[in-house]
Amino acid sequence: MITLDPHDLQICLRAGEDVAGQGGMVLPPIAQASLFRKASIEDLHRDLAQEHRASTYSRGTNPTVRVLEDVLAALERGEACKCFASGMGAIGALLFGLLKAGDHVLFVNDVYGPTLELARRLEDFGVSHSQSFAATPEAIAPLLRAETRLIFLESPGSTLFRRVDLPGIAALARARGILTAIDNTVATPLLQKPIDLGFDLVVHSCSKYIGGHSDAVGGALVGSAALIERIFHSAYMLLGAVMPPFEAWLFLRGLMTLPVRIRQHHDDALAIARFLAQHPAVAAVYHPELDAADAPPGNWRGHSGLFSVVLAEGGFARAVAVANRLHLFGKAVSWGGAESLVITGHKRDPGDAPARVPAGLLRLSVGLEGREALIADLDRALA
Ligand SMILES: *Cc1c(COP(=O)(O)O)cnc(C)c1O
Repeated sequence: MITLDPHDLQICLRAGEDVAGQGGMVLPPIAQASLFRKASIEDLHRDLAQEHRASTYSRGTNPTVRVLEDVLAALERGEACKCFASGMGAIGALLFGLLKAGDHVLFVNDVYGPTLELARRLEDFGVSHSQSFAATPEAIAPLLRAETRLIFLESPGSTLFRRVDLPGIAALARARGILTAIDNTVATPLLQKPIDLGFDLVVHSCSKYIGGHSDAVGGALVGSAALIERIFHSAYMLLGAVMPPFEAWLFLRGLMTLPVRIRQHHDDALAIARFLAQHPAVAAVYHPELDAADAPPGNWRGHSGLFSVVLAEGGFARAVAVANRLHLFGKAVSWGGAESLVITGHKRDPGDAPARVPAGLLRLSVGLEGREALIADLDRALA
């Protein structure tokens, strides 16, 4: 069982309720408009001066998207939020908006592949980066350079699901004047509040649990009003990866059931992880609640429904065969929807080359089909 913050349940359930006095609508209307007429040119000039929160043009602020931004800021305990066309849109704006040639970024722990690919692209623009899998404040302190501007991390990471000492890293960075950002997609805004631990910025891919129905792509960035406004002017408006109002409406609808979905994802994934951990065909299970002994400090309430398993024998070929034998787990990328999914840790056989991600790794996204049926499916596929 996980206990969620009752305040969060109120925020999710009343996600968009009657925001603008719309006669009791439980969700806001979809503001399908690119521009917003003002009563006078003076009013237009006033709103253009606060375009990060006033609707003048939908590449800046749209009323439906603004409702979602306020809800996500409240859930993450941040002052402000901007929503994006995708999680990568948010990560791109964060890096592009805060960094300049000569700056260095330290990535800590496992980081989503395309985030690192984007960092490699930024090398061409004079922004350098390095990555550390050693993730204690003591281990990363010597890796910080005079030009380090940002520490970016995931916890739990989305492949090996290792958690790191968020308050320790936030304190270390703050003492050196370095910004901290965390991709909190795996934990969702319900299971971990990084801003309360001292983090400056939180990124989400809304395409996963926040949407929850595998029907929409979106992203969000939460932080202080000053930082979000800075990123708004230096990247958001210029890169233009904005969330359309219909997507914002879908994410608001998704948020209404996020608490109840997360409880079932948590309970079933943990039961399945425990079943697999004692299965003779399984060498290891990477689920952050299974080895609670060395839990780092933080405000983490428990894990969601995504974890990895390493098969005992046969490496990559056996991982492919077992995945293909599963009936209830769809073969697909992404995760966080109602349907269970499976994917291999590698796209091709890594052979015997030493790899951080074992060749026989399968990542499971536990959906809402019920743990008995999913365990039976896994047991049969592993036999
Ligand atoms: C999916 C994902 C992203 C990227 O989000 P998109 O919405 O697909 O652009 C970033 N980080 C993590 C951890 C993800 O799982």
